[in-house]
Order: sequence, then C-alpha cells, then structure tokens
Amino acid sequence: MILKPLWARLTVAVLLPVALVTLILTPIFTSHLEERIDGTRQSAESLLAAEYDLLLRGMNESFNQVLATAEYPLLRRFLLRQAAAETPTWGLAAQSDWEQLEALFGTLLTHFGRYTRLAVVDTEGREWVATTTVSRLPRPPVVDHGTTTAFRKAMSLQRRDLYVSSPRLGASSEEQAPVTTVIDITTPIVDGQGERLGVLLFTLDWSRLTATLPHAREEGPGEALLVDTQGQWLLPNSDAPGERFGRSLIERWPAAWNAMSSRNHGMATLDDHLLAFRSHDLRTQHYRSQAGKILSESETQPWRLGILMPRPRLWGLLRENPVQLLALVLVYLLSVGFGVFWVLSDHRLRGLRQRALAFSREARQYAGEVQDLYEHAPCGYHSLDSDGRVIKINRTELDWLGYRADEVIDIRYYRDFVAPETREAFDAAFRQVLGRGQEGSAECELLCHDGTRLPVAIQATAQVTEEGFQYSRATVFDLSERKQMEARLARQALTDPLTGLGNRRYLENQAAMEIARAERSGAPLTLIAIDLDHFKRINDTYGHDVGDLVLQAFADLARQVLRDGDMLCRMGGEEFSVLLPDTNREQALRVAERLREAVATTPTKVGQAGPENGTLAYTASLGVTLVCAGECTLKPAIKRADQGLYAAKETGRNRVQWEEA
Ligand code: GH3
Ligand code: MG
Ligand code: MG
Repeated sequence: MILKPLWARLTVAVLLPVALVTLILTPIFTSHLEERIDGTRQSAESLLAAEYDLLLRGMNESFNQVLATAEYPLLRRFLLRQAAAETPTWGLAAQSDWEQLEALFGTLLTHFGRYTRLAVVDTEGREWVATTTVSRLPRPPVVDHGTTTAFRKAMSLQRRDLYVSSPRLGASSEEQAPVTTVIDITTPIVDGQGERLGVLLFTLDWSRLTATLPHAREEGPGEALLVDTQGQWLLPNSDAPGERFGRSLIERWPAAWNAMSSRNHGMATLDDHLLAFRSHDLRTQHYRSQAGKILSESETQPWRLGILMPRPRLWGLLRENPVQLLALVLVYLLSVGFGVFWVLSDHRLRGLRQRALAFSREARQYAGEVQDLYEHAPCGYHSLDSDGRVIKINRTELDWLGYRADEVIDIRYYRDFVAPETREAFDAAFRQVLGRGQEGSAECELLCHDGTRLPVAIQATAQVTEEGFQYSRATVFDLSERKQMEARLARQALTDPLTGLGNRRYLENQAAMEIARAERSGAPLTLIAIDLDHFKRINDTYGHDVGDLVLQAFADLARQVLRDGDMLCRMGGEEFSVLLPDTNREQALRVAERLREAVATTPTKVGQAGPENGTLAYTASLGVTLVCAGECTLKPAIKRADQGLYAAKETGRNRVQWEEA
C-alpha cells in the first residue's frame, strides 16, 4: 500500500471490503428485489381487479334494486291516486297500501342494509313516502324535491333509466355516526302508457358499500384509491368519512394523479409506491345491470380506481428476514474486521521491519566502527589457527611488520615473524593457549620486513566452542618505547650526569667483564685512582660552579689522553678511576704520568668567575695498581690504588704512586 498514515490505510481497509462485498452482493439483492417488485405489481393488479369487480357489482345490484322497486304496481297506484286528486293528501292512500309500502321499504332498508333513505316523489317534487332506518314512518313531512338534480334528472329519463349522483356527504342512518357519504340513485316511476308518475329515490350508503372494498383503508399491504375526473377523493375513511373525502389528490399526490389521468389502465412507479390503476365510467359500464341509460354528472365521470402498494425496498426485504440481515451484517463486519486486522498487523510488521532496519544499520555502523578500531588500534591484533597460521591480523600489526594482508593471511605462520632468540618464549605461550589454560603471554621480538626488530608483548587467549579450540586471539603491544626508556634509565643509572663519564657502578659492572676476560686471556689489568688536589680550595675560592667546570674539563682532558679501551669513571666528588685492560705496570705508570702532566699543564678555562685571566690551573694525584689474578671484584684493587693515591698526596701531590699488590 502506498498510503503512509495509519488513519488513511484504516479508512481504505474499511471502505474497500465494504465496496467489494457490496459489489458482489448487489446483483444478488437486485434480482431478488426485482422479483419482489414483479410480485408486488401482480398483486396490485389482482387487487385492482377485485376492487373494480366489487365496486361494479355493488353499484349494479343497487341499480337493479332501484329499477325493480320502480316497477312495483303499488307505487304506481299510489302516485296515480295522488295525481288524480285535486289536492293530494295523506289520506288518499288506502291503509293497506300504506302498510304494503312500509313493509316494502322496510324490507329493502333492513335486508340490504346499504341505503340510508328510500323515498317516493310525485311529479311536482313532493315527497310522499320516505323511509329511513331511523324513522319507519311512511308519512314524512312533505319535502320539496322540485329543484334537486336527482329529481330533475330522473324526471327527464325514460323507464328503466337511472340517474346516479356523485358521492356526497349526507345524513347517516346510524345515530352514532350521523354523517356519512351517500349516492343518490333515482329513476322515474312510469305508468303503462309511459307517463311519468313520479320519481323513486334511493340514497345509497356509499361508505358502507366501499367499506367492503379490499384495502379501502390506509392500513394493510395496499391502499385503494378512487377519484373522480376532478381528482377529488371519493373513498371515505370508514371511521371518519369526512376526513379524506372530497379532498384533492392532485394537491396531495400530483405524481399519482398524473399517472392515473394520463391513461385508462396501467401501472406507475411512484417514489415509494407502485400504483395499478384503471378508469371506470358509471354511465357506460352495464355489467349485469338492468338499467337502460345511466345518467351522471359528466364532470365527475369516469372515475379512476387505483391500488397503491408500497414499493419493495432492499431494507424492507432485509427487515423481513432478520437472519439474512444478520448474515449480511456479519459479512460486512467480517470483511471490515479482516481489513482492519490486516492493516494493523501490516502496520505492526512495518514497524518491526523499520526497527530491524534501524538495528541492522546501527549494527553495520557499529561493526564498521569496531572494524576500524580493530584495524587501527594502537596495538596489534591477530588470530591464529591451531597450527599457528595467521587467519586474521590488523592493519597496525601489518604496518609494524611491513607486509600486506594478502601476503600474510592464510599463508604465513606467526612463528616465522618471531626472532629466533625469542621463539622459545613464543612457542611456550602458544602451547599454553592451545592447552588447558587457554591463555598465554610472551615477550618477543618480531622480525620486520625491512630487517628491523620490534620488541613486543603478546597476550593471547583461545576462542573455544563446544567443538573445541577454534582459533587464538592475541593482542600485541609494541615494547620498543618501553625498552628504550629502560635502556635510558639503565644508562642513566650508570652515568655521572656532570661529566658524562660512567659512575662507580658502571666501573664495577665493566670490571666484572674485564676481570673475566683478563683471566681468560691472562693479559694484565691495571687500575688508576685519581684525586684532584686541593679541590676544596677551588670550590671555596671560585665557587662550586667553577669547581664543576674543572671537573668537566678534567673529564674531557682525560678522555683525550686515554685510549679507547680504557675505562674512565667518576667515582664521586673529585675522584676518578681508570681501568686499563691489557696494560702492565710500566704502561699503566706511563699513562698515569701522561695524565698527570696533561692536567698540570692544561689550565681550565673557567671564564669570568675564575682568576683574572679566565683560566685555572690545578693538579691531580694518581695511585696505580695491578688487578691481581684471583681477585674476582675490583674492590681490593680500588683499595690499593687509593692507598697509592694517599701516598702521592702525602708526598706532595701532583704525583703518580705505584702501589704493589
Ligand atoms: P686534597 O688535595 O687533600 O685532596 O684536598 P682536597 O681539598 O681536594 O680534599 P677534600 O677531599 O677535603 O675536598 C674535596 C672537595 O671536593 C670537597 C667537596 O666540596 C668538593 N667536591 C666534591 N664533589 C664536588 C662536585 O661535584 N663539584 C664541586 N664543585 N666540588 C665538589
Ligand atoms: Mg678527594
Ligand atoms: Mg682532592
């Protein structure tokens, strides 16, 4: 995934599975929905057919009852008698006629239960007989129908013709619900010659008739619609007839009206509904009707019937089937859950990968640093295999040795770089490393490529695993500086700092070797002891610094006078000794005499601190003796030479005195 932030990836992880599942499920649910819509259409159509049938049947039954009643001779007789009278009155009819009329109308009212009022009107519009379910009196107060449409239309009709009004609000036959919707049905009462004798008026309880229609209420799966040509609602609510009746469908539901008014028969899809509709004209539809001609208000006909069914929706389908809904929710949840899980685990993995990368970067850097430290450490490092072959060596040590890595690694044995004199120590240490101790150290000298030697200290440990010895790892310290320091210190310990001559210890060391050599060769070895005369006076007179200058001058002078092999030392103070290898008594006396003379004749330049001419003359007394065979140290000879010296001092100084052993 290219998206970086977690929230963006989580959003995709939610949206993508939802989109995929939707994509897969949509065709399935769509076809399911289509089937359901088809089924709904079919049931709407069959409900419409049932509605139409019931309406037509109910109306035509009423028509036939009106027509049949109008044929009763009783009515004709009654109306003829009234017409014949100059002043029609109640009393004209025979009692038996009244009773028959009451029985007939009473039967019609109670038996069919669909009329609210039955009335007989004469040609003048006077109502002579009227029966309602409330009052069964055949003699009502005279009502004038002269101006009513129902009367006037009926008076214009022939026998068996009908006038049918539009539904209107009217008086109910029931006390509990005084208002209902009614339809006036009138037909002329005609005598044998076709003369109109009056009008028969049936007031049909429209609410009761339509109450038998299926789905005439708003409850249930479908809703029946019935509107006139003006779009006025003709179906009353059974509970409150005035509530919806007469209201305009055009205003309330323009889409439904547009569909219903555009065609005679059809099916329309509204927003949330399916509408099956057809038109029905009272005037022309004579199914099982005995009527000849049916008149009605032309502005209200034809009626339009409809069945409105809720349009099936996906959500509705799912709600019908909770298991399916649950399964769907589960599928979405699972897919989203999977997506989120995947993103989160990928995120975690990514984090781990980044950390691992950072670690490995750090490790590489660290390894580089370690490698650098290894290569350029101030000490040498090397590793040897069990045969002593170099398998690893650092740059420092290679530089010391003066070789390249490829000339050494896996080729050379380290022992070859060790000077033969120190090889034994090296071998012993290496054996220790290979052995139980697993560590060893040695001081050796390395043979460098340019022929020089490098003193080193090697400290090695064995690298051992479960499989045993793997290799040895050694640290090599350069000892040359230390060696030089040691040599310098050793030299200083044997040297007199003022004159640069060897000191007493130096003489003793040298004497040990010279005595041994003299013994081996049998050559004579002599010793001269020298003491400067009245040196204290020089110090006292010219100062200690001048005394020092005199001591240095004597040393320089003596070096010139003596041979290379003669060992001149400062024994302390203003006392010196000379050890003369391969020198006999005569030769030694000659040397001593030459030295005495040189001192006595070579004044020392001491500068302004000294006498006026800047030079200072001094003398020395010398005692000479032989280092005898069998004397393993110089001490007896020194003692003798000193005795000779004292003798020289005693006898006047600036002299040479032999002291016999
Ligand atoms: P003599 O002829 O009997 O040897 O007399 P001397 O004065 O030389 O004898 P002494 O041994 O009494 O004096 C030696 C003097 O040398 C004493 C000391 O102050 C001096 N001296 C010893 N070492 C040094 C030194 O390093 N520098 C100087 N300037 N004087 C030193
Ligand atoms: Mg002295
Ligand atoms: Mg002296």
